[in-house]
Amino acid sequence: MANILLFGEVSDKEISSITYELISAANKLKFNEDDKIVVALLSEVIPESYENLFSYGAETVCLVKNELLSRSNTDAFIIASKEVFDKFNPEIVLFAKTDLGRDVAPRLAFKLGVPVAQDCIDLGIDQDTKKVMVTRPVYGGSAIATLVFEDVETQIVIVRPKVFEPITPTENSKGEVVELNIELDEKLIKTKFIEEVVKESEGIPLESAKVVVAGGRGLGDAKNFDLLRELAEILGGAVGASRAVCDAGWLDHEYQVGLTGKTITPDLYITVGISGASQHMAGCSSSKNIVAINKDPNANIFNSANYGVVGDWNAILPAFLEAVRELN
Ligand SMILES: Cc1cc2nc3c(=O)[nH]c(=O)nc-3n(C[C@H](O)[C@H](O)[C@H](O)COP(=O)(O)OP(=O)(O)OC[C@H]3O[C@@H](n4cnc5c(N)ncnc54)[C@H](O)[C@@H]3O)c2cc1C
Repeated sequence: MANILLFGEVSDKEISSITYELISAANKLKFNEDDKIVVALLSEVIPESYENLFSYGAETVCLVKNELLSRSNTDAFIIASKEVFDKFNPEIVLFAKTDLGRDVAPRLAFKLGVPVAQDCIDLGIDQDTKKVMVTRPVYGGSAIATLVFEDVETQIVIVRPKVFEPITPTENSKGEVVELNIELDEKLIKTKFIEEVVKESEGIPLESAKVVVAGGRGLGDAKNFDLLRELAEILGGAVGASRAVCDAGWLDHEYQVGLTGKTITPDLYITVGISGASQHMAGCSSSKNIVAINKDPNANIFNSANYGVVGDWNAILPAFLEAVRELN
């Protein structure tokens, strides 16, 4: 029997959706019937909804409550995650590619002297070695590599958000709850949290929008995004952009989709004047439907698009918008 330990996250006193995504990822790694998924929640507040985790596939939920475990306190998480690790002695450890996961996972790996695989977009088990096999973008997203852990005792994996869908929960599932009391000595916390600045964003957040309408350098000017905003509003979606647009200052970088921007998985992704560079696609290739408007028939975006219109957006977009307005 092997334990798969995953570190869930708590945000605004609720269990973050990434926790459920990590359980789905862990499910792909079970290869013996008695392999067990352990979800650890380390937080200053433990939401009552932790019992729901059993319905999503957790067999054990480990709760560690301590006022020093606020999201900004990486040192406390590192100490506590090592104790959780020692308690369950897992073969596989999963973290999310969040601010917290990216901070804690490599440091835990260093403490344990084991390797860590970053930014994984798919997982599996190598049938020969029974070790974890990860798929991750390399060379700035220009290629996708599949790697297998060598013969190490512990394999630590950081999973990209929004690539695993939470499973449909089964009702009334029960499991084991382990409450760990971890003493955290304040003297061991070497960093000091000063301030968190939360930027208010308008409309639907890009990452959770079902429809995203994104523009690229081909739009030619910041003011042309007004058409995209209107289309997004009618469709109940959000506006996104390529990095070229954000670098040019037409939109803030919070709108950027891609390898160094946000990862999105909308049902519908409409792109206008975006070439579809691999670094852009790294953030949107899991969209369910991609519609592209581009005047270059050889643009890379057409390799991923389900529907494509080759032509000048100046002619296409106003007419499309008019049709959508009428339907609305
Ligand atoms: C390490 C690294 C990380 C990166 N991260 C990201 C990232 O996170 N996100 C990202 O987007 N990029 C990223 N990039 C940049 C990426 O490589 C591309 O340069 C960028 O995505 C290009 O943006 P674009 O498609 O808007 O512009 P372009 O590549 O210039 O494409 C513009 C497109 O518009 C079309 N067009 C022009 N005029 C019209 C018209 N009138 N009607 C219709 N179509 C028209 C053109 O045919 C062209 O295909 C990264 C690069 C590196 C090296």
